[in-house]
Amino acid sequence: MKIIGHLINGAIVTDGTRTQDVFNPSTGEVAKQVALAGKARVEDAIAAAQAAFPAWRNTPPLKRARVMYRFKQLLEEHAEEICRLIGEEHGKIAHDAMGELTRGIENVEYACGVPELLKGEHSKNVGPAIDSWSEFQPLGVVAGITPFNFPAMVPLWMYPMAIACGNCFVLKPSERDPGSTLYIAQLLMEAGLPAGVINVVNGDKEAVDTLLDDPRVQAVSFVGSTPVAEYIYARASANGKRCQALGGAKNHAILLPDADMDNAVSALTGAAFGSSGERCMALSVAVAVGDAAAEAFIEKMKAQMQSLKVGAFNDKRNDFGPVITRAHMEKVVGYINSAEEQGAEIVVDGRHPSVPGFDNGFFVGGTLIDRVTPDMLCYREEIFGPVLLVVRVATMQQAMELIDAHEYGNGTCIFTRDGEAARYFSDNIQVGMVGINVPLPVPVAYHSFGGWKRSLFGDLYAYGPDAVRFYTRRKTITQRWPSAGVREGVQFAFPS
Ligand code: NAD
Repeated sequence: MKIIGHLINGAIVTDGTRTQDVFNPSTGEVAKQVALAGKARVEDAIAAAQAAFPAWRNTPPLKRARVMYRFKQLLEEHAEEICRLIGEEHGKIAHDAMGELTRGIENVEYACGVPELLKGEHSKNVGPAIDSWSEFQPLGVVAGITPFNFPAMVPLWMYPMAIACGNCFVLKPSERDPGSTLYIAQLLMEAGLPAGVINVVNGDKEAVDTLLDDPRVQAVSFVGSTPVAEYIYARASANGKRCQALGGAKNHAILLPDADMDNAVSALTGAAFGSSGERCMALSVAVAVGDAAAEAFIEKMKAQMQSLKVGAFNDKRNDFGPVITRAHMEKVVGYINSAEEQGAEIVVDGRHPSVPGFDNGFFVGGTLIDRVTPDMLCYREEIFGPVLLVVRVATMQQAMELIDAHEYGNGTCIFTRDGEAARYFSDNIQVGMVGINVPLPVPVAYHSFGGWKRSLFGDLYAYGPDAVRFYTRRKTITQRWPSAGVREGVQFAFPS
């Protein structure tokens, strides 16, 4: 059976000690295995990155950017193969995988502009014949730890910019679907990156803890679930590292009575069920303001959901594929069961759908649940499945209070024709990314991505301008060349 190894110092190595099965979620079969790096293997990767750093740091930004240009081209040329790997291991259908990859490539494009982004700040004559400037220096070895749900895009949020800024990178992808991530890193090597600048170690907690504890690692970017994000942030920070840790979500959409309901239903169908709801920006709660809005929405959504098709990743006619593992499928079904037991109304039931020819796949069909209340388990926790909850409230203020009271604050949106209401909402809601008649307000690559509350631990967001700041350290230099007339006498106070 094929074993997915690690990329260390430019070569693929396979750790012989421990492995884990990688499933094809569409068939339920074990398709491959992944090597799980132990401490020593991770330390090899850190050492390779450390050794590559002095030369890479001094490589002109323009030359670093040229590698990114070639990388972008290779990603486009090999897009089909990347999407096949994503589909095989994650279950995402081809056009969704292509969407993910495209958003990832946009981050490579942004990193191509790094000479401009690193220009720094300069002030002449801050004192008599004194000039001062700030420059942004790379940190050294930086690490990334990524989730299963975007095996191509989320790593591309991190290392193109980190590397373009002059750092060397150790990536620990999700062990559940590591194939496309490793393949993409190999394309970066093919683009001309020197050995050791990018390293990929597959593994689990042992590999992660090694990265968190090793003093050579200067910074850690993490994306995944909130309990792990909190742990990563605490441990990395306690070890004196810079850390950004993005966590889970429960994204609400407010439906005001004046909304264009057909538009809202189409938008929510893609945003709730696309990628089987396994997106941190999935819209999983519709908050209907008034019973009339709730009834209108449910009637239209129910009709729309009749044509939803769940099935294998490689059939283009499907709207979404399986969830990642059997255990996750059972967890999602458990949330639907709990909603029923706690008194919610299952309007469309996606438990145990029939997918002919794929009886052992990890499928959950689109599910719509009405009359959900905030005390229910299905409301409090992130389900991460194709399940849309409807909560009914009387006023927009109540809808906003509900959103603000939730543990998570990643994304939200409002559907309305009322500009004043939308403006009030976007100004006041305690959530990091807001859509107005836009269901998935994922910032483009030249803005930055991050939630509020327990959806993000740290100060700087992922990708975009914040990534330049995260992966560099400011140094401010003040300079004078003594010459006749500006030679300094003894001074005991700050010059004023
Ligand atoms: P996860 O937290 O289980 O795993 C993420 C990474 O952490 C993996 O690489 C995994 O190997 C590692 N890990 C897991 N448990 C660990 C532990 N105990 N100690 C150290 N490392 C550990 O997340 P997942 O299931 O792969 O991804 C889904 C989650 O990620 C969802 O909660 C989703 O909302 C979130 N997510 C958030 C964003 C965002 O930008 N906020 C984006 C994508 C996904």
